[in-house]
Amino acid sequence: MKVHLITHGCKANQYDTETFRQELEARGAQIVDEPEEADACVVNTCTVTHQADRTARKDIRSAKRANPDLQIVVAGCSAAQRTEDYVQMPEVADVVEGHDQIEVADQIAPESPYLDTHEEPVGAELLDEHKPRTRGWLKIQDGCDRNCAFCATKLARGDSRSRDPDDIVDEAKRLSRSHCELVFTGIHIGHYGRDLSPRGEPQEHTLSTLTERLLDEVPDVRFRLGSIEATEIDDRMINLLEHSGGRLVPHLHVPMQSGSNSVLRDMRRWHTREDYRDRMREIARRLPYLGLGADVMVGFPGETEEDFAQTRELVEQLPFTYLHVFPFSAREGTAAADMEEDRVSPEIKGKRSRDLRELAMKKGERYRERRVGQAAEIVVENEDYGMTEDYLRVELTGDPDQRLGDLMYAPLEMEDSDLIARI
Ligand code: SF4
Repeated sequence: MKVHLITHGCKANQYDTETFRQELEARGAQIVDEPEEADACVVNTCTVTHQADRTARKDIRSAKRANPDLQIVVAGCSAAQRTEDYVQMPEVADVVEGHDQIEVADQIAPESPYLDTHEEPVGAELLDEHKPRTRGWLKIQDGCDRNCAFCATKLARGDSRSRDPDDIVDEAKRLSRSHCELVFTGIHIGHYGRDLSPRGEPQEHTLSTLTERLLDEVPDVRFRLGSIEATEIDDRMINLLEHSGGRLVPHLHVPMQSGSNSVLRDMRRWHTREDYRDRMREIARRLPYLGLGADVMVGFPGETEEDFAQTRELVEQLPFTYLHVFPFSAREGTAAADMEEDRVSPEIKGKRSRDLRELAMKKGERYRERRVGQAAEIVVENEDYGMTEDYLRVELTGDPDQRLGDLMYAPLEMEDSDLIARI
């Protein structure tokens, strides 16, 4: 059985696809790069925007066009949220509501000879490696306990569930044999550990205690936090960022969503612009350099020119090196989907998005210029590009024998506004 895997969306989905791959390979399947070569295809979907749902439908249709005999299984967040839509598609053979690798594999390889000789279901609870072997994802939790008004991911993934810290450390040790960088992955990693202590008792495990343990017990890799909320970066974590000697890399992706307190309130966010600003300034002050990114949503219902100006001002004030700007799109089942009044027109959303993206690009350019001449620690991602500790993509020139996934050190140079590293 040959299987082609398609993944949309965030790192958590990419991690989940790796669990599909590992489970399918354990049952004897071979993973192939093209739908034309495959007997079956798994599309692991995302539902963060309308565009994400559209992309899923488009990829399903084009895979089937490329290979009319393909058995297509749709899984992931959009499949959980919009199950009926996919069931109705003639191209789709099966729908798995969510990310269970056993359910996905059962649709494709239920008659595995491996299964016949084992009473327990096959499949590793722990991942051994990701493909390609560059940076690896280390999933620490799933789900989220918040209720942001715009978020369909929470609806698709449910409440926060933390993985056992011993399992995470074991998995990190296995992954460290193939990867020199591991990225913490989850839907809301700042909630790590809340569900591991009984209610009412002090929280024994937190993201910071887990990070300390990983830094201690898994020596040969560097770690990256991935997306984390400003109010959930505690002092202990800032100390680790400052004093781990680069093993916890100086890069944070911190959802901001809006710089207007009234929009943040309508979004049901729990923090103010001041909370966000003060935390980011404190972190930037403590680190010699920092890759800092954020998600910003424009055109949330009721967002006025003044609200947007406050968002723009906050972006200007903080040392962002990149932004992910999303125009608001109403997601079925969310609180914001019912906010019919004060909808912002598509033209205004487009204008605000362009404005912020331009601003973010200029800030990113300025940051890259500042890094020229300084050393960087780069993971080789392919023969042309690598990723620095502060999340800059750099062009690699020189030694063609550099191996995928190697960690290399080089000063950064600039050529035609591109960062390059000679190896
Ligand atoms: S914090 Fe808000 S946006 Fe983030 S996953 Fe939870 S509900 Fe969604």
